[in-house]
Amino acid sequence: MRIGIVGGSGRMGQMLIREVLGNKAATLSGATERPGSAAIGRDLGTLIGADPVGVAITDDPAALFANSDAVIDFTAPAATVSHAALAAQHGTALIVGTTGLSPDDHAKLKDAAAKAPLVVAANFSLGVTLLAGLVRKVAATLGDDWDIEIVEMHHRHKVDAPSGTALALGQAAASGRGVNLADVKDAVRDGHTGARTAGDIGFATLRGGDVVGDHTVIFATEAERLELSHKAGSRAIFARGAVRAALWAAGKAPGIYSMDDVLGL
Ligand code: NAD
Repeated sequence: MRIGIVGGSGRMGQMLIREVLGNKAATLSGATERPGSAAIGRDLGTLIGADPVGVAITDDPAALFANSDAVIDFTAPAATVSHAALAAQHGTALIVGTTGLSPDDHAKLKDAAAKAPLVVAANFSLGVTLLAGLVRKVAATLGDDWDIEIVEMHHRHKVDAPSGTALALGQAAASGRGVNLADVKDAVRDGHTGARTAGDIGFATLRGGDVVGDHTVIFATEAERLELSHKAGSRAIFARGAVRAALWAAGKAPGIYSMDDVLGL
């Protein structure tokens, strides 16, 4: 199974190269970076501090898609949309970890999914995939008199907020309650906000240091509070999940799949 990595010199890109090189079921078909990146031409092994593997990073995604059974993309929204078009053109499976995608970006991924299998997840860890299922169940069980708040913390370099995972957990809670997240989302509180609106799902965003990703979903009512938490200790968990998704997706029928599908949940 030939797996390619776009954005290979990024924080996640390097983790993904390491995971693919260490996986016996996979062959690393190559990696790309954005045009002009200082990483172009560097050997993928030395890039991650390992022995050279004789494959250099390029700025030619079309060649990578043509030579891969699956490509893993943890880059940026505009890049991911153009990679999805290449996946459709070549029928290559695409694993999308990029967050901060707009509704328009998601529509373009859906178009590409008419021609290629795409696995899209805001969080590729097993723990968070299970957490989302638990949140859906708890939200469906508890009545509307339980307020739902989601708190997340990430490293100081993160550019989107709330995190894609926090939003996915909000979606899980909203679907458990049978409501649309867009109708009940309260992500910004500042100044004289007035009392909390019943039924809202609140978000709080913390940024600092090198935190890989902490998420807590709080269900609070009079005299009682239930908290479900996940803490990521290393980016390796996302890379491992994404490689598992790539091995699962290659050769599948075109369509959009989730980590629930990959894990058979
Ligand atoms: P990063 O900035 O370290 O890496 C992104 C890389 O993509 C950079 O090296 C950049 O040069 C490259 N890139 C940008 N445009 C490109 C293009 N057109 N072609 C090739 N490469 C291109 O960021 P990161 O911390 O690795 O995170 C990347 C994305 O993954 C973010 O959206 C982040 O939120 C998301 N993420 C998702 C999960 C998950 O499980 N779904 C986990 C961690 C991070």
